[in-house]
Amino acid sequence: MKALGLDIKREEWESTTGMTLLDVPEPKLDEGRDPLDGGRVIIRPLYTGFCGSDKGIWFRHAFKDMIFNSLNGQPYRICGHELLGEVVETGQYARDHYGYKPGDIVSTESHIFCGRCHQCRIGDAHVCSDHLIIGISTDGCFAEHVKLPAKELWRTDTDRIRPEVAAIQEPLGNAVHACSTVDLRGKTMAVFGCGTIGLFSILVARAMGATTIIGVDPNGHNLEMAERLGVDAVYRVDPEPPRRLGVGPDPEIVNEIKKRCFGEGVDVAFEMSGSNQALNTAIAATRAGGDIILFGLSAGDYTLTGFQDIILYGKSLHSVIGRKVFQTWYIMSNLLMSREHGVQEKIYDVILNRGEGTVFQFREFERSRFEKAIATHPKIVLKY
Ligand SMILES: [Zn+2]
Ligand SMILES: [Zn+2]
Repeated sequence: MKALGLDIKREEWESTTGMTLLDVPEPKLDEGRDPLDGGRVIIRPLYTGFCGSDKGIWFRHAFKDMIFNSLNGQPYRICGHELLGEVVETGQYARDHYGYKPGDIVSTESHIFCGRCHQCRIGDAHVCSDHLIIGISTDGCFAEHVKLPAKELWRTDTDRIRPEVAAIQEPLGNAVHACSTVDLRGKTMAVFGCGTIGLFSILVARAMGATTIIGVDPNGHNLEMAERLGVDAVYRVDPEPPRRLGVGPDPEIVNEIKKRCFGEGVDVAFEMSGSNQALNTAIAATRAGGDIILFGLSAGDYTLTGFQDIILYGKSLHSVIGRKVFQTWYIMSNLLMSREHGVQEKIYDVILNRGEGTVFQFREFERSRFEKAIATHPKIVLKY
């Protein structure tokens, strides 16, 4: 079958970029050889989403060790973890216990949790100590078929959620998880970094009751999309802030935000850019007693300027990873299927640009065209 991924050796990682359309063997269910296949299903992808982490793989910024340490001699890795697909075959346990049958339409949680570790047993499977990530540490869904555990799947009603949007429930779930961390009802908030998850968070936070939402980003195109999604104000950060600030907060942005929020700052700041300076600006722009939600990240050390103010002003830092399995998925489905806030429509109209330049035929994958698209749009979808 055709699959999109990497067929490079560890030594070639630094000297290459991109992904390749590969010819690889079809995944099979063989309960005689591997009894765990009983709990698995074969899925035929219909639409898949290209994630920020896939971009990290494409440009070789991230996941090198996770990929190469999990290959077990296999000479390639199939990428992709944002999925809408059709069940074509089930193991016996997947059928008898979970009720899956050919024709069922599903998405999937991308972190395959073990179900045995401390966190899994207390309901924190999103921070499982023994997890695999689909498309990184196990083969993914940029392929004509993918084998996945039934326990990870999420039934999806494509009569109520359009397929292009249903394929990107997994990253939308990051935003839903972030917005569920603290109560947003009646709150003022600022989103630092209006990339894909930042834009999703604007929509979700509004639906959850945030009253004032401010978008902050160095990129004018991102801010324009934030405005179309309904933010109350946008502030453009200087892409090259004055040297003297180092990684310290940007005083202009802090002042502007405070002015809008009773002179004190926002109730909640979302740091979704991974910039050290944005982190310090987000903390400084949050009122005493407020909350800072941390999602953006880059490799290496960060410096927290004015650390003691975090304590003295009682600000709380919360980190968000993945999605709560499956609490986040239920909230997300409710949001997508509700007509009330237009979350689904705005994702399709603005973030997916009504499919123009954002939907690519899997079999016609062409590297340079695709690379241009991922640089232009916050989210790209592959159609099978
Ligand atoms: Zn993703
Ligand atoms: Zn676990």
